[in-house]
Amino acid sequence: MALYASDMPLRFLMRRGDETTVLAWILQGVARLGLAEVHRSAAYAYGYRLLWLADLTTQEQDQAHQRRFPNQRRWDRAERLASCFTVWTDYPMTQAAKDRARHPDVEGACRCGGTGWIGECLDPDDPTTRMARNCPGHNPEGRVVPRPGVAR
Ligand SMILES: [Zn+2]
Repeated sequence: MALYASDMPLRFLMRRGDETTVLAWILQGVARLGLAEVHRSAAYAYGYRLLWLADLTTQEQDQAHQRRFPNQRRWDRAERLASCFTVWTDYPMTQAAKDRARHPDVEGACRCGGTGWIGECLDPDDPTTRMARNCPGHNPEGRVVPRPGVAR
């Protein structure tokens, strides 16, 4: 999120020795947005990514993500660079960041209706063959009782 909001050039490719430059862009993005907004947008982005990977996004979620990150090429570049930075540098995620990452957020109406569970029909000709799967955005760990306050 911070990289997306920074002056990071769209064609930037990280090489050994670029860590300080990338760190400066991260700090620049945080200064522009504020830490609370970075955390909030990161939670929405992660929730959207989890739903997208499971092919479960709704049109409303797609639109919300598009509004939040209107430049998709820039978002893709920032997301990839953030992953590289986290894995390949001496600036690993803090425990607080890892804890926040366990709580993605969802922006827009969800297939689960905020319950954390999505009902699926295994056989379209037999409506009794239903099963429930956890919503990757609202209930990524598949808890039987989703954490309080997930309904949106
Ligand atoms: Zn959901």
